[in-house]
Amino acid sequence: MRALGLDDLIDPPCIHAWLGPGSLAVGYVLKDVFNFVLTCSSDGESEVFLGPREVEEEDLRAVFRQWDPKIRTLVENGHGYLKWPLLDNSQTELSSWVHAAPEDKLSLALVGDSAHAIGPYIGAALGFESATVLGKILAQARQQADIPAMLRLYESLRRPRTDLVRGVTQKMAREWMLPDGPLQVDRDDIFVHEGTPLQGYPNALQDPFSQRWLYSFDGEKEALEAWRLYRENCPMY
Ligand SMILES: Cc1cc2nc3c(=O)[nH]c(=O)nc-3n(C[C@H](O)[C@H](O)[C@H](O)COP(=O)(O)OP(=O)(O)OC[C@H]3O[C@@H](n4cnc5c(N)ncnc54)[C@H](O)[C@@H]3O)c2cc1C
Repeated sequence: MRALGLDDLIDPPCIHAWLGPGSLAVGYVLKDVFNFVLTCSSDGESEVFLGPREVEEEDLRAVFRQWDPKIRTLVENGHGYLKWPLLDNSQTELSSWVHAAPEDKLSLALVGDSAHAIGPYIGAALGFESATVLGKILAQARQQADIPAMLRLYESLRRPRTDLVRGVTQKMAREWMLPDGPLQVDRDDIFVHEGTPLQGYPNALQDPFSQRWLYSFDGEKEALEAWRLYRENCPMY
């Protein structure tokens, strides 16, 4: 990076973002690697696929030909580019993530992207949160018969939060990938001129409310508290 004259992207280490119409580029240091994520529309893709695929560098260069010279330098000199599809399931959302079966049958719960996929813009780590909550609740089970109620409790605890995080993410994606025009000019003006970010700031990574709310989540504490309340109100216990 230094040899390429891109010192300012790694020193000091922080997140750099370039906002464009329908596209977004984000770069950040991960140990000794500069990870560079480019998001763009899938218009023109003939095929839907799952998981990462190698991407032709020529195709990548074509997408970002008009962008900041720093991005072009990165694209020219980087390697190992992978293409990931970002599939939006918000229109086809499952009515439930849980199949809570009677005692002698198998129950099932979805965790992570299969239950609540969101765009990768705010690093919300919702899958880890859900796994923590589910694990902590299940660890309190005393008998097989507890499991269906526990799975339902897990979903009731997670849905409101994952829905809210999805909303924040969709808003951020819309604002960050605005087409050129008056709204984009207003957004850029706020980024350039607004001194202290306040609640509702168009960069959720700097919005003090969303930062505190998003990253102070304590899955173990929430799960144990919810289970305690459930037990208090359940005649079975
Ligand atoms: C480019 C990109 C950047 C991201 N950046 C961030 C970030 O900075 N911070 C953040 O918090 N999140 C980020 N995310 C989102 C994050 O990666 C996901 O939310 C997370 O990986 C979800 O975990 P998961 O275990 O639910 O699903 P996955 O990680 O998708 O795991 C599902 C697994 O199931 C396997 N599988 C699928 N079908 C089958 C089958 N039939 N049989 C067996 N195995 C199967 C898949 O191969 C895969 O290994 C990013 C996502 C992308 C695509």
